Amino acid sequence: MSEIIFGPVNSRRFGKSLGIDLSPSFKQCNFDCVYCELKGAKTVGKMQDIVSVKDVIDALKKALKKHKDLDVITITANGEPTLYPYLDELILEINRIKQENKLLILSNGANIVDKNIADALSKIDIVKISLDCASKKCFKKIDRPYSNIDLDEVIKSMKSFSRDYKGSLVIEILVVKGINDKDEEFEKLNTILNEIKPDRVDISTIDRPPAYDVQRVKTSKLKELSEKLENLHVSIAYRKDYEGKKESFSEAGILNLISKRPQSESDIELYFDNDSKIKFKNMLKKSIIKEEVIAGTKFFVV
Ligand code: SF4
Repeated sequence: MSEIIFGPVNSRRFGKSLGIDLSPSFKQCNFDCVYCELKGAKTVGKMQDIVSVKDVIDALKKALKKHKDLDVITITANGEPTLYPYLDELILEINRIKQENKLLILSNGANIVDKNIADALSKIDIVKISLDCASKKCFKKIDRPYSNIDLDEVIKSMKSFSRDYKGSLVIEILVVKGINDKDEEFEKLNTILNEIKPDRVDISTIDRPPAYDVQRVKTSKLKELSEKLENLHVSIAYRKDYEGKKESFSEAGILNLISKRPQSESDIELYFDNDSKIKFKNMLKKSIIKEEVIAGTKFFVV
């Protein structure tokens, strides 16, 4: 069995994170995603191997004494953390001891259809869930869900969760070459995401060896697809060595771009030429453009 607590790790999008693994022994998941960083495994509807709330809290208390400068405590799993049967009790206990740290969960989002799980999630500061596809065929191909999971129900529940949720809702789309990298899929996702209204949308692709024989898309493709998503705060996972095609903007052009869609710090860095960056900074100084931090990621808005 590996450790229940891991890290801290530096996450570009959420800051310094201390992780809690609710399935330290082996993978227990209701998805069998083609891109999973863990080995492929049969999907399950319930966790079989369960760590106690006391063991998790004891390990967390010990780790919190050692690590003082965290941004988030992240509930995750070798698999899907919402399959943990004592999730609500665990969240209440963590909220009691987490001090000023934010609590984050990384989930595939499918169990949000369960009212008890949605209630438990509503007590977490940042909920990050996945929505890789808007169409059932694509969803089945990429996420290979447990038999009773229905995409329409999941989307419906994401919408109602988002309506009442007071924290930051982040939705991640992971793009796989030849599966969900089509314009039509992203046009449908745009419609659905504008109904769910998450605080942020993260777009990424395969970064580590996947469970099945699938491939990543180029960063330029992620950028192209992200432009299909309107009126949303979109954060693209740029590779460290990626160099964007620098463009020149007038002040009016900068305003137009940012009013169509908030730009992240990385977008500005990669796509603005030096002259445009100077104009941008002046506009920021004059408060024509404002900064907005969403669940640890900086955006610029008008
Ligand atoms: S939901 Fe996460 S853990 Fe489960 S199969 Fe997909 S990527 Fe792997």
